Amino acid sequence: MLKQTGENSTIDKIIEIKNKLGKEVVILTHHYQRKEVVDLGDHKGDSFDLSQKAAVDENAKTIIFCGVHFMAESAAVLSQPHQTVQIPDMDAGCWMADMADIVMVERAWKEVSKVVDTASITPIVYMNADASIKAFCGRNEGLVCTSSNADAAFKWAFDRREKIFFFPDEHLGRNTGHKMGLKPDEMILWDPEKPLGGNTEDDIRKARVFLWKGYCLVHTRFTTEQIEMKRKEFPDARIIVHPECTREVVAESDASGSTSYIVTYVDQAPSGSTIVIGTEINLIERLALEYPDKNVIPLHRSLCPNMYKISPENLLQVLENIGELNVVTVPEQIKNDARVALDRMLTLA
Ligand code: SF4
Repeated sequence: MLKQTGENSTIDKIIEIKNKLGKEVVILTHHYQRKEVVDLGDHKGDSFDLSQKAAVDENAKTIIFCGVHFMAESAAVLSQPHQTVQIPDMDAGCWMADMADIVMVERAWKEVSKVVDTASITPIVYMNADASIKAFCGRNEGLVCTSSNADAAFKWAFDRREKIFFFPDEHLGRNTGHKMGLKPDEMILWDPEKPLGGNTEDDIRKARVFLWKGYCLVHTRFTTEQIEMKRKEFPDARIIVHPECTREVVAESDASGSTSYIVTYVDQAPSGSTIVIGTEINLIERLALEYPDKNVIPLHRSLCPNMYKISPENLLQVLENIGELNVVTVPEQIKNDARVALDRMLTLA
């Protein structure tokens, strides 16, 4: 149980309501949330781990997701009938998720079907997308993946079909394909603004992976020049980046992996080591505080303004309006189809 400070502050009011509601409410905080918010949560982690934790928590009637909208939507897809999902700010969206909507995705699928049989393509959607695209993948023998299991999802897909259509992050898709030994010309970019995604029919026939032209503005701010500078400044440092970074940045780093991978990497690094990290700044700053025996520094300061929209003030507002304010729902048919794609992900090794 969290203790109040006695200052009658927003934090104290949150703690008071939380203590009163007990296990009926569970507050989930994504790794990229600011520290004040993370300190008030019951669980911190990446989006899928958090949703799963909440869904199996029988006592939790209300799930408050401190993260961006697609995360709260995934929690709603996985939630049980007696659970309600709320988000402190409905406007906390995600730039990357907004780069693909269902109309664009269905149009692309139709276009590609004019050149190759879609029965030869597995659609894979990164967790960072709208529930309707997860549902589309569920309906079309595809699945969802996270940055932790994208390799396993690609393998699953290639064991079944010849090609993959990957939405909506071109960089995670390219980095994963590269890890699997695909050549750059076997992965083609699909620009939804252009006919045939900007490709020729021949390109489409030859391609193994279609990469939707979407990206995360937080992770594409990292550059190889920054890596070069940090290597000069800290010659003994290990440089670790998120796979939403560009291929060049990942290639120049010492390791790359999901937020959970980064957390474990820092945890297991020897005391006294220097770790330079390329991901959202709030996670890096928290890790620096949690591991004072290690030198944890950002490759560059890159903040996600959408994640930053969640604050103790709007968290308090939802706690004062349990079951009413900013309730995130997903239509039943979309929920069912998205669940199919999420369940397929759960079968991955
Ligand atoms: S860090 Fe990037 S992918 Fe994550 S929520 Fe922010 S914009 Fe979206």
